[in-house]
Amino acid sequence: MTDVTTTTKVLGLIGDPVSNSLSPRLQNWAIDRLGLDYRYFAFPVKVGAVKEAVIGARELGLKGLNVTVPHKKAAVEYVDCLSRAARVTGAVNTIKFGEGEKIEGDNTDWQGFLKSLELHDFDPDGKKCLVFGAGGAAAGVVYGLVRKGVQNIVIVNRTEAKGVELARKMEGLSPGVDLAARPLAGSDIGERIECSDLVVNATSVGTGSTRGEAIWDDASDFHSEQIVYDLIYNPSPTKLLKLAAESGATTIDGLDMLILQGLESLKSWTGEEFVSGETVDELRQYLRASGGLN
Ligand code: NAP
Repeated sequence: MTDVTTTTKVLGLIGDPVSNSLSPRLQNWAIDRLGLDYRYFAFPVKVGAVKEAVIGARELGLKGLNVTVPHKKAAVEYVDCLSRAARVTGAVNTIKFGEGEKIEGDNTDWQGFLKSLELHDFDPDGKKCLVFGAGGAAAGVVYGLVRKGVQNIVIVNRTEAKGVELARKMEGLSPGVDLAARPLAGSDIGERIECSDLVVNATSVGTGSTRGEAIWDDASDFHSEQIVYDLIYNPSPTKLLKLAAESGATTIDGLDMLILQGLESLKSWTGEEFVSGETVDELRQYLRASGGLN
């Protein structure tokens, strides 16, 4: 680790809570490995104080911020310009303080998701996909899949209207992609899972108060010709991934996506990036060994 001096540039995370976040470990590991004169800190920020936090960070000379729950939507209001991904998904997870006081808002979740699929040699082009969830994470996943030219996406959400709204927002981004929204209680969901090449859980079911539960628990709908991806990385594997693995599906947890979206943010702040997939392996091992995951 390089010494912190008056020239060290500061990066940070705002959210509430941030005490269990892996981002400081992840980013400082990457900063050290790249030999950069930066440090990354976590700042708890209450709902209603996002504007002050963002402006304050700029005035203090921070170079960038990550934004996490519950501020990703609110942050959209306090930046001067939005990337296309942030505009379409309605969520900012990366803020860059550019030249001339301009504050830029971006969303790197979709890039982290797509890059993690690449690591698993899965090309979404022309594939059939089913996404559980219609919140911020689901928006990033659907945006990425649409950009990659999948054949179709079925968005399955407990609150059907939110799924319909998400499908509507993504329509027109890529005219060839067929988007549909279904309620979680729909009678055809099992069948739709069965004919999907990729099934993604982008809900919070399986962690926190629903730890041990699965968004879909009929293992007979999963099979060996598909990938089942759970954005949750703690715990890992989730019940969903255990059921899918029992049925022979290839399973992916959310840790690679977390790492890869974080490295995308670091690249946007510093211009530096890792070129090899081995870095992700090393980071994954480091994060699993350093505690904070169980
Ligand atoms: P969010 O915006 O609050 O959305 C939550 C989603 O979960 C909604 O679709 C909600 O459905 C659904 N849901 C919650 N409880 C449910 C229940 N009991 N039964 C059925 N559906 C339920 O949250 P988010 O930001 O999208 O995050 C979702 C998950 O993704 C979290 O676990 C988060 O940690 C994870 N995530 C991982 C990464 C990564 O890098 N690996 C990145 C981002 C997020 P309703 O619309 O019906 O409420």
